[in-house]
Amino acid sequence: YCTASAGRERTLIAVKPDGVQRRLVGQIIQRFEQRGFKLVGLKMLKAPEDLLSQHYHNLQKKSFYPYLLCYMTSGPVVVMVWEGFNVVQTSRMMVGSTNPAEAQPGTVRGDFSIHVSRNVVHASDSVAGAEREIQLWFNGRELIDWDCCDHNIVC
Ligand code: ADP
Ligand code: MG
Repeated sequence: YCTASAGRERTLIAVKPDGVQRRLVGQIIQRFEQRGFKLVGLKMLKAPEDLLSQHYHNLQKKSFYPYLLCYMTSGPVVVMVWEGFNVVQTSRMMVGSTNPAEAQPGTVRGDFSIHVSRNVVHASDSVAGAEREIQLWFNGRELIDWDCCDHNIVC
């Protein structure tokens, strides 16, 4: 079928500092491209602490939160916005369980990580969460609404 909005869902994916340091950026991007999703935003930055505190606002009371901040500021991150049908849910499947010890082989975390404190990648967990996170990390001009004759997904 073909509707204007079905393929327009967006999610925020980030390669965390360990993923950048371990040269995994290309392999992670490749997985999203080959699945058929569309890259509409991409940048590298050293995440400021106030941005991270908003990004992880729901975790601020957790005992591991100081370690999480330390981890996420230990180097640059590569932040991306990917678009496509059901991209939020599909990305979470592709990324795997938060704890790599429970992540299935074939997922990013299941293939590239062993410990929850260094789990390589971030993916938004809901459509509403994705919208909030995208607004936090990107301004409108940084998101590119390019056209495709898409061979894999409805558009
Ligand atoms: P996810 O990233 O899968 O959405 P959460 O939102 O629950 O997972 O947690 C955000 C991030 O906080 C995790 O990806 C991980 O980097 C870190 N984290 C979560 N739980 C722990 C923990 N028990 N110890 C250390 N770091 C953790
Ligand atoms: Mg989360």
